[in-house]
Amino acid sequence: KPYQPWIENYPEGIDYFAEIDTTPVPTRIEQAVKEHASLIAMDFLGAETSYAEMGDQIERMAGALQKELDIKKGSRVALLLPNTPFFPVIYYAALKVGASIVNCNPLYTHSELTHILKNSDADILVTTDLKLTLEKAEKLMQENLADKLVVSHFPTALPTLKKFLFKIFKGKDLAKVESVSVQQKTISWHDLLDKNLKADPVEIDKDDMAVLQFTGGTTGLPKAAVLTHGNIAANLSQIDLWGVDLFRPPATLAAVIPFFHIFAMTVCMNTPLTSGVKVAMLPRYERKSLLEMINRTRASILPAVPTLSHALATAPEREKYDLSSLKIGISGGAALPNETKQAFSKATGGRIAEGYGLTETSPVLCCSPLYAPNKDNSIGMPLPGTDVQFLDVEDPTKFVAPGERGELVAKGPQVMPGYLDNDEANEKSFFEGYFRTGDVGYVDEDGHIYIVDRIKDIIICSGFNVYPRTIEDALYQHSDVDECNVIGVEDEYRGEAPIAFVKRVEGSTLTEEQMREHLKQYLSKIEMPREIIFKSELPKTLVGKLSKNDLRDEYNKLKKS
Ligand code: AMP
Repeated sequence: KPYQPWIENYPEGIDYFAEIDTTPVPTRIEQAVKEHASLIAMDFLGAETSYAEMGDQIERMAGALQKELDIKKGSRVALLLPNTPFFPVIYYAALKVGASIVNCNPLYTHSELTHILKNSDADILVTTDLKLTLEKAEKLMQENLADKLVVSHFPTALPTLKKFLFKIFKGKDLAKVESVSVQQKTISWHDLLDKNLKADPVEIDKDDMAVLQFTGGTTGLPKAAVLTHGNIAANLSQIDLWGVDLFRPPATLAAVIPFFHIFAMTVCMNTPLTSGVKVAMLPRYERKSLLEMINRTRASILPAVPTLSHALATAPEREKYDLSSLKIGISGGAALPNETKQAFSKATGGRIAEGYGLTETSPVLCCSPLYAPNKDNSIGMPLPGTDVQFLDVEDPTKFVAPGERGELVAKGPQVMPGYLDNDEANEKSFFEGYFRTGDVGYVDEDGHIYIVDRIKDIIICSGFNVYPRTIEDALYQHSDVDECNVIGVEDEYRGEAPIAFVKRVEGSTLTEEQMREHLKQYLSKIEMPREIIFKSELPKTLVGKLSKNDLRDEYNKLKKS
């Protein structure tokens, strides 16, 4: 019998055994459009779109996809888009006609994008006339990686947008398709809408693939996780059960993390837009623009990765903006340091709830209770309908004893059926129907779950397991530490040894000796970093998580030179 101590301690008013609604997203959007027609669905740098207008654009785009571009069940629609109102419109229109979405990160390199488009067999590619995206799309089209290119045009008449583009992209903003061969395959977004077509209804089954979501690819090339309509819809229902009435009008959500990442796709787009909530979006994170947007829209919900919440809460110019509308920050994607949680509360008066999940789990598996006390450092409890167990790290064919550390494995309606065409990865990624997350964690006797670290980040030092997160937590205890990240590197004597990278707060003159003195209070000798390296910036992944891979590369290069 699985060990599930959270059941007796579940937050009051939330039913762990509640039935999970898997009504597909396009149907939910239609319901939201009807129910909230006159409310604002999207705010894009001040330009507003109501639910009724969004619904109308989705209808017309679905009609054009089906009747002009022959997009149907089984088709794949690749998106190379930053956060703009175009994103939800094309996403819901494509799903409505039975196609699957392939999300592409506009910051990916040409070879990464080629890998994604080749392996996803995309029929059309959708992008914007932003230079950053259009130049990449054009190159991909020249290599025939999709049949048609749909280009949406930034509404540059909007002065706020012009200013923003200039600030972020330094004048290198808009572009035209140059290549003649690509021009022949290019269709303008507005021309498609102007056709005023209406799609014939398409039956959608909960097992149909909704999204092909490529994982970060931290080991080798990205793998393609198949997320079904049932998976994505289930996670929305689970979040709704957990959040009770958090996602209800007149709430406004600040969408600054990118929709193409699973965290934002579910939490910043699908959840609010199926609930009548206003989504205020930024095409890219920029600290002052985010502060300005929160101030202007009175946003109440801010989903973010911890580095972003931290940057916002400690921004030198934060006093100039009114952040008191922020009731809740939703942190995910990486471990949330306690210091960030406190800084956020101090700066806004609101609280941070911490979620945990992965691309493969649509993504949310666990979340800290929103209306009940949470234990420090815990990622909360499994969402309704989600089972979380722990496998022995040394021998992953058995579960650990109650409360012991092990690899977190999960089962639930939000867990993907598998990776596309990848038997080997599927074989390795499931055990007795549980998905193996690659994260080490444990559950306490009250049912609160804790993540210790990722298995592959554990540093084996003279035969002992050293967890980078323990060292990072100790570093964060020092008030001069703005950001830090710890990796393991080869060590002649100990096999591996930890190296700490630290970004100090502005103006700090903290030395390595002082840092070591501080760490002595928290760390054993074996955990003490071999080197502490101060840096003015730490590398981040494309969604803003601190990146260990980039640090490893940097460190190896440094040592070679
Ligand atoms: P991705 O699939 O790119 O979203 O990355 C998923 C990984 O992010 C997980 O396997 C965890 O290692 C990490 N992660 C996500 N949320 C948390 C959290 N709250 N605490 C610690 N690690 C997290």
